[in-house]
Amino acid sequence: MAVKADVLLRGASYVVTMANGPYRRVTEDNAGIIERGAIAWREGRIVWVGPEPDSHVVRAREEVNVGGRLVTPGFVDSHTHLVFAGERFWELWMKLEGKSYLEILEAGGGIYYTVRKTREASVEELAEAAVNRLYTMRRYGAGLVEAKTGYGLLPEHEEKILLAARMAEKRVRGVELVHTVLAHVVPEEYAGRREEYIELFSNEIIPMAARLGARFVDVFCDKGAFTVEETRRIIEAGLRNGLKPRLHSDELANIGCHKLAFEYEIYSLDHLEHLPPAAARELGRTRTVATLLPTSMLSVFSEKKPPVDDLRRGGAIIGVATDFNPNNMTPSMKHAFELAVYLYKLTPLEALAATTVNAAYSLDARGYGTISEGAPARLVVWDFSHYKRLAYEWGVDNIYAVY
Ligand SMILES: [Zn+2]
Repeated sequence: MAVKADVLLRGASYVVTMANGPYRRVTEDNAGIIERGAIAWREGRIVWVGPEPDSHVVRAREEVNVGGRLVTPGFVDSHTHLVFAGERFWELWMKLEGKSYLEILEAGGGIYYTVRKTREASVEELAEAAVNRLYTMRRYGAGLVEAKTGYGLLPEHEEKILLAARMAEKRVRGVELVHTVLAHVVPEEYAGRREEYIELFSNEIIPMAARLGARFVDVFCDKGAFTVEETRRIIEAGLRNGLKPRLHSDELANIGCHKLAFEYEIYSLDHLEHLPPAAARELGRTRTVATLLPTSMLSVFSEKKPPVDDLRRGGAIIGVATDFNPNNMTPSMKHAFELAVYLYKLTPLEALAATTVNAAYSLDARGYGTISEGAPARLVVWDFSHYKRLAYEWGVDNIYAVY
């Protein structure tokens, strides 16, 4: 009996399935590379994948021939601050003049500017901005995108961000969202009252976010943000409400945040520029994905890189995401993918695993970031044929089609 499908995509030079992921070590042998491959899907789910089939193997209502091009899984962007109002383009000029983060803050810029503008915006306005960003993300290959709150800070505004994200998600076909509630900073009105804010976040914001469909709780655990002990309390509150933890960790300094990955099941530790090499090697013992954010590092003109060699040597699962936010306005996963190669020296297959199946693992999203039976049909068709050409020609529009 032939497999019935809506669409049969055929004529691929190679299909890189990433079906054996998540990967601690990815090579040509285990990446799931199919030569002269084809993929069939029905109602958005992959029902068949393999070498060019005969007509009695798959019967599809529509056939698409990609003319000898390479097909890979759609990207998974596992770290974005998708919803906000208050872009800060002039801060690039200030950063280039050598102004520090503190000086920008004192000039009325920085995160609190975005918080102010986000609070002034309506749900509809926030949703509309998010929709435009999602279209760009899809165009550059993303099929699943994580969206954090964190620019509202108070319950009513954090709620507005979640509602806007859900609204935006319904309007853009071909991209799904995973919702995260983020403890970003202590709001200005709680200056000197950190304890009270952590109570508010734990007892009001987290339960509200869980009701509105958030699946993760994230904490900006770093110097000048939340301490390890405060982060622990927020993680616990998240767990009580069924939210899985992920963390901003070791970006500005090592204050010990990464140690929480040995204490809890942390789905992702993100940034990691200041992660000590020994801890990087230990991370391989955990299920935690080490999520690297190369565009974010560049947007703050930092030269400090995460300990990639140690992560690799220890067998950590490495992810790569955009960290799209008003201080790092690149919604392109293709860009993050390419920079992971040129900045962090991941091999193109490592970078591909990091931006697809490994990133999906950090979001507990089974099947995403792979081309396998039962997985959602999210694909990137590249405008060239050999998988070894991935990231070779970069900074150009070499995505032929996105499904
Ligand atoms: Zn972030």
